[in-house]
Amino acid sequence: MGDPVGEGAAAGKALEVVFRAAGPYLEGLAERKVHESADDGVLGDLGGPLPERGVGGERSIEQLVEVGVRAATHSSGPRFFHLVVGGATPAAMAGDWATSLLDQVSGLWLASPLAARVETVALGWLKELFGIPPEFGGVLTPSATFAHVTGLACARAWWAERHGVDVTAHGLSGLPPLPVFSSGLVHPSTRRALQVLGHGRDTLRTFARDDTGTVDLEALEAALRALDGAPAIVVGNVGEVTTGAADPLPELADLAARHGAWLHVDAAFGAFAALSPRTSHLTDGMERADSITADGHKWLNVPYESGFSFIRDPAWQHRAFGDWGVPYLPGAGEEQINYNTLGPESSRRARALPIWATLKAYGREGYQQMVERHLDVAAHLGALIDQAPDLELLAPVRLCVVCFRYRPPGVPEERLDELNTRLGEALLADGRVYAGTSMYRGRKVLRAAIVNWRTTTGDVELLLRVLHDLGPALAADLR
Ligand SMILES: *Cc1c(COP(=O)(O)O)cnc(C)c1O
Repeated sequence: MGDPVGEGAAAGKALEVVFRAAGPYLEGLAERKVHESADDGVLGDLGGPLPERGVGGERSIEQLVEVGVRAATHSSGPRFFHLVVGGATPAAMAGDWATSLLDQVSGLWLASPLAARVETVALGWLKELFGIPPEFGGVLTPSATFAHVTGLACARAWWAERHGVDVTAHGLSGLPPLPVFSSGLVHPSTRRALQVLGHGRDTLRTFARDDTGTVDLEALEAALRALDGAPAIVVGNVGEVTTGAADPLPELADLAARHGAWLHVDAAFGAFAALSPRTSHLTDGMERADSITADGHKWLNVPYESGFSFIRDPAWQHRAFGDWGVPYLPGAGEEQINYNTLGPESSRRARALPIWATLKAYGREGYQQMVERHLDVAAHLGALIDQAPDLELLAPVRLCVVCFRYRPPGVPEERLDELNTRLGEALLADGRVYAGTSMYRGRKVLRAAIVNWRTTTGDVELLLRVLHDLGPALAADLR
């Protein structure tokens, strides 16, 4: 097979291969191990030199799907508790396929009014869902990290202007270091965004009362006061990855208001706390932020890549990104919205389509039910851990993350880190469930994040069964 023009209308055949595999794959996800084995011999089949003569679309896709179904990490299934990983709702998955089918150049009205309109609708619905005021500007991004880059680029354009510098045009030279303050709950992606923007990851200073990361408001305020009226950025966090903890946003918003600081909120998955009256206190005050980061590929259960950035005053998006300065691209601020003037990307996927599809399919009510089911499942796991004599719950279950460790009788405290490290490794090798390890308050811990629409109480009960299958042999070695 040579030039793809030879395939012409036969493109449908390759798509049918995917379609035929999709049903059994998705139906099997609930039963499948998260990962079959560490043996990646099967991946070798995808290697070899660049084919001189192609095999054609149908055969190429047959091989990709055949190997893919066997070798993929089934992280979109119900028992991938590691990191914070959502699945894909049926409507979001289909919406994502439709995105590829239509293959829109999204970001320029002239190239796709469809993509631009759907992005506006999707951003509007997301603001409603999270209780963000409708006047906020926004843009879809590939991830929360890129949403940080977007929001913090707006923040520093504001900051530089206060120093009389147009940073978008002239860069950072002549400016002082950017003051960025947060609590101990801050996620490394905030530092990554500052690093990418040229401020250095260590420019961020944290103020914590203790080793839980809880914000020290007095120390943070003292740091703001010491700036003597110079502008600063305060970063609030809702939904910390190890325990689900949140900063008190109303207090941070008051502080920012008193000292004229920009408030940036990282609510990558925590924004979804707004959906349930049981947890909405955690996002109270988010509506007072100047910029907000959230993710679609986590708790919204939209396929990768999907993030959102919301900006209180959309004018900063124009100032931070704006005009491309070339005659073949439209200028900023035209009546017809060009999303590639409102964020860092140029060409971009129409990632609004799966968001639109899933919100249209399930609505606020469907998402509230899903979030509350996850709250119940996480609380159930927390209660089971609390009752188990050989497990120790290390933080209250406030949201969808459960932080605990294995502590069987007879293993000395100083060997528990090693035991939990080994148990975490054994868990991944076993493959029935995936949960990760981390450090919390100086201890090695296991943690599980419950954000997949498929996850039920049975799945977290299996997590404990697997831990109890694997744990005793490891503990016997360390007694
Ligand atoms: C996952 C996460 C991020 C980073 O999100 P990406 O989409 O992976 O870039 C940032 N903040 C928090 C709190 C997160 O949980």
